[in-house]
Amino acid sequence: MQITQDAVVLIHYTLTDDSGKTIDSSSGGEPLAYLHGNGNLIPGLERALEGKQSGDAVSVKISPAEGYGEYDKALVQSIPKRALKGIGNVYVGMQLQAQSDQGARAVTVTHVVGDMVTIDANHPLAGQNLNFEVKIEDVRAATEEELAHGHVHGPGGHHHG
Ligand code: ZN
Repeated sequence: MQITQDAVVLIHYTLTDDSGKTIDSSSGGEPLAYLHGNGNLIPGLERALEGKQSGDAVSVKISPAEGYGEYDKALVQSIPKRALKGIGNVYVGMQLQAQSDQGARAVTVTHVVGDMVTIDANHPLAGQNLNFEVKIEDVRAATEEELAHGHVHGPGGHHHG
């Protein structure tokens, strides 16, 4: 079966940056399962996989616009440490949830200088080309429950506790 809208797709993938460094990989674990065409993967990767089938290998370079977005300096802010009250030890690399107009958003602490903390709301992979090597392990039709939830159940997918 080909990968089309609402297909359940199982893939093994390796993601590297332009220097060849591995950022993420499913190798050694179970394949990633996702529901195609439901915004579960970045747009550029879904487009590259459209129409492919089980056994196919796909190699694709995805630009920031089709990946996690361009790096936006306006999303970097300096705030006083006291604005983070309730959070004990603030350190570089720490991930926090910040409230914004669009709801909760993940931010990363990038600098701590004296009483000032710099937080960056860009996705950690914003502004980077993403080089994916993908092997398509399986393609199947989604169940009605999976379609209703917008994600895959079972191995490699969501587990409801
Ligand atoms: Zn579910």
